[in-house]
Amino acid sequence: MSIESFIRTIPDYPKKGIQFRDVTTLFQDPRGFRMAIDMLLHPYAGQTIDKVAALEARGFIMGGAIAHQLSVGFVPIRKQGKLPGDTMTEDYTLEYGQATMELHTDAFKEGERVLLVDDLIATGGTCEAGIKLIKRANATLVGCAFIIDLPALGGRKLIESMGVDVHTLCAFDGE
Ligand code: AMP
Repeated sequence: MSIESFIRTIPDYPKKGIQFRDVTTLFQDPRGFRMAIDMLLHPYAGQTIDKVAALEARGFIMGGAIAHQLSVGFVPIRKQGKLPGDTMTEDYTLEYGQATMELHTDAFKEGERVLLVDDLIATGGTCEAGIKLIKRANATLVGCAFIIDLPALGGRKLIESMGVDVHTLCAFDGE
């Protein structure tokens, strides 16, 4: 079975006109989840990855499994106010208004090679904030991996224009 076939689409969620690509149906299937983790890691076989970073919240589900598979540490990049230690922050634009992502200042050692993961890339704004945080922490970004690409929203192009390698498992039309 293909990755796409495990992903459920919920129309008009969380608001009218959005086709919500729901990965819980992929995660709840034992073969689907295993296949997604294996496929996400495939291009990085043989490369050195020191840590996996993930974007709140669905990214954490994949990020923990990927870090375990690689026997490396896991770093959460969280929405404002959730991380208890000293943080650095990065603002990004949402469709309506602004949001902020945070990273613990001691999450990475200088030069550590980091893989960034999330479930889906749309406009790329969330990922861009994550990349800026990783770079400000003086870590080295190996690439960004997502289960789903929404090419119509241009996120992949934005991230690639920053010189960062993007790996996705499937793509859906529209928003
Ligand atoms: P963006 O910053 O525009 O690339 O949005 C990416 C973030 O928003 C990811 O963390 C996704 O989980 C979520 N997201 C955006 N659009 C959708 C969608 N159509 N279905 C499910 N999640 C989405």
